[in-house]
Amino acid sequence: MLAHQIRVVGIKTHDVRFPTSLDNVGTDAVHTDCDYSATYVEIFTDNPRLLGIGLTFTIGKGNDLCVSCIDYLKPFVLNKTVYELENNMQDIWLQCTNHSQLRWLGPEKGVVHLAVAALFNGIWDLICKFYEKPLWKYVVELNTDDLLDKISFSYIDDAISSSEARSILEQKKRNLVPAINNVIQNGFPCYTTAVGWLGYSDEKMTKLIHNALENGWTHFKIKVGQDINQDFKRLKLVRNLIGPKNVLMIDANQVWSVNESICFINKLKEFNLFFVEEPTNPDDILGFGKIKAALPHVKLATGEVCHNRVMFKQFLENRSLDFCQIDSCRMASLNEIIPIMLLAEKLNIPIIPHAGGVGLCEYVQHLNIINKLLISNNKIELSEYAESCVEHIENPAVINRGHYCTPLNSGYSAIIKKKSLEDYSFPSGNYWKFSS
Ligand SMILES: [Mg+2]
Repeated sequence: MLAHQIRVVGIKTHDVRFPTSLDNVGTDAVHTDCDYSATYVEIFTDNPRLLGIGLTFTIGKGNDLCVSCIDYLKPFVLNKTVYELENNMQDIWLQCTNHSQLRWLGPEKGVVHLAVAALFNGIWDLICKFYEKPLWKYVVELNTDDLLDKISFSYIDDAISSSEARSILEQKKRNLVPAINNVIQNGFPCYTTAVGWLGYSDEKMTKLIHNALENGWTHFKIKVGQDINQDFKRLKLVRNLIGPKNVLMIDANQVWSVNESICFINKLKEFNLFFVEEPTNPDDILGFGKIKAALPHVKLATGEVCHNRVMFKQFLENRSLDFCQIDSCRMASLNEIIPIMLLAEKLNIPIIPHAGGVGLCEYVQHLNIINKLLISNNKIELSEYAESCVEHIENPAVINRGHYCTPLNSGYSAIIKKKSLEDYSFPSGNYWKFSS
């Protein structure tokens, strides 16, 4: 069947929650009991073999709000053909992000934006499955005009114009074939966050770091922010375990004030930190700038809760961050992620995507490749990885010696196993029904 012959006939949403708080997975200075969850969307077509799947990530309560919000967005997608979704994508995206009533709840932030992310991750997945290509391949092989037609520069065209974007894309496309071969052969480098959740004991962390070193990991991120003396001891332990040559980063998950950040980061400087992530309130663009001004030797990273492209524009143009941590489910899918990658390239700021959670590693493995092949000339190539919830994912991201292996299956990859979907649906799945 051709793209204009296949039509969306139904959209089903699921509230899926995994009880990760039982093992302290995901714990940090402010999130102490995460139940990693997904707002999961299935887009059915009249071709029974073609199903689009998208998700956004939450950490438990409130996942139901994202699920409900998608009900308001369904009319913009139902009954559309694959051809219409592909060729009118930006219009449909704007109808959702700029909905005349829902926008009061945002605009373009919070629950509504997370819901748009889930739906559009599903639309991209559907289109790529139609063409039987992995998402990264579909995107890098798109004609430049077709790609620019799908993404939104609204409110950021003062920082990057579509003609600047075009010249970045065209320049990179000259070298595409060897670059594709290279990424298929070598994968994409990543760091692990999974050895140093804040709720882990020293013994558990030591064991996990030993395992990680044996498996070829060279980049490690550790959570901090409960108590500075305790942080110091943990970092001393980790630095001793990984040695002086491996790369160490910390993540304070928003817990410090600007003044505390300056004081505490200074106390930790002997650990030679590659970056400090989210030291303070993630909305405080000027505060990040003050920390950087006070500590010129320190590099800051942020972005996992940076709610849209406009906020990233300010962080990037103000040089309040050194590493741009785009999030595949916080921003409203590739439609605004790719423009931010392009702006970061224009300003020569590296992208180091946020991952972990449910499905985020599966998504960012595609985004890393798109950025590398189509956009970035930056020498720093790195991405986050944490193997949380992989047991629930069909074909989870594969890691080899600290590198994401390049995904070759059709679509955008984040698919939850049918059995996990049934067992962990909230509140009626077997797990939640029988747990009190
Ligand atoms: Mg973080």
